[in-house]
Amino acid sequence: MEVFLTFDDGIHAGTAEVLTVLEKMKISATFFLVGKEMDSMYKWDPKKFLDTLKKIAEGHSIGNHSYSHTDEKYKDYYENDGVLSSSDGTRMSVEEDFDQGSSSIQDYLQLIYGDGYGKKIAGVGTKQEKLLARLPGRNTSYFSTGKNTVLNPPYIKCEPNTKKYSEQLFLKGYNVFGWNVEWNMSFDFHLNAAEQMAGKKTISPAEMYLKENRYKDRLLNDWSVVMDNIHRIVEKQQKVVLLMHDRAFRSTDLKESQKDLSISNTGFDPLNAETELEMLIGALIAQGAIFKTLDHFF
Ligand SMILES: [Zn+2]
Repeated sequence: MEVFLTFDDGIHAGTAEVLTVLEKMKISATFFLVGKEMDSMYKWDPKKFLDTLKKIAEGHSIGNHSYSHTDEKYKDYYENDGVLSSSDGTRMSVEEDFDQGSSSIQDYLQLIYGDGYGKKIAGVGTKQEKLLARLPGRNTSYFSTGKNTVLNPPYIKCEPNTKKYSEQLFLKGYNVFGWNVEWNMSFDFHLNAAEQMAGKKTISPAEMYLKENRYKDRLLNDWSVVMDNIHRIVEKQQKVVLLMHDRAFRSTDLKESQKDLSISNTGFDPLNAETELEMLIGALIAQGAIFKTLDHFF
């Protein structure tokens, strides 16, 4: 089986932790980056941010996951083409939102490499030759299985109201990928985000690491549940695209957390997610999985 590990919504709290595990296990993954989250991380810790992006660019693949992430207003975004960008009702279209996401990635790569970043295709990793994108909050795929001809049409599987946007991205050269397995997590920060975030565009990494927020946006299942779901998919399809979110893997002061920790009888501890990720990858390796990044889907 081929496994494509994908991590969404970084670069943010948890991205560096994920990279450490991947480095240890010698595995490459695909990171779908969000412009506004990168800005927030850069503001919080520029050095850590740039080190993290450099590691992704050199060892993994980069995907565009938009600039705004819809400002967590998914329905409005797809029904009315984009996000409100000013109080007078002006909108930034979905296409413009992805253009801005791409500019963010390019600008930060330029900051790291200067003119030494001589990629023919801007906004991709140093070993990457294809543009990748994922729509925020929608499991939509629109990608080419090679040359796009009448005899070889793209693979298209879209959630409602997303086809025209994925087609726009495809025509710009992106391969748009959804997923077929998800490592479920709680979305405390992002559920009903408009109210919870009180007008803020994002939760800062500093807030994500606060002790009082340590149980928010955490994994809901241990690695063996994900493994069972992978086995179910593999019966029908040989390629597994696993969706995860960086922030679920952010580290916590475990000693401090032990005080109120309620570990389930399976031993699953959502605050120790880095170990969970290691266990899943280890089990997949033991079963002969081949790990690839999404630019090598074919
Ligand atoms: Zn996302």
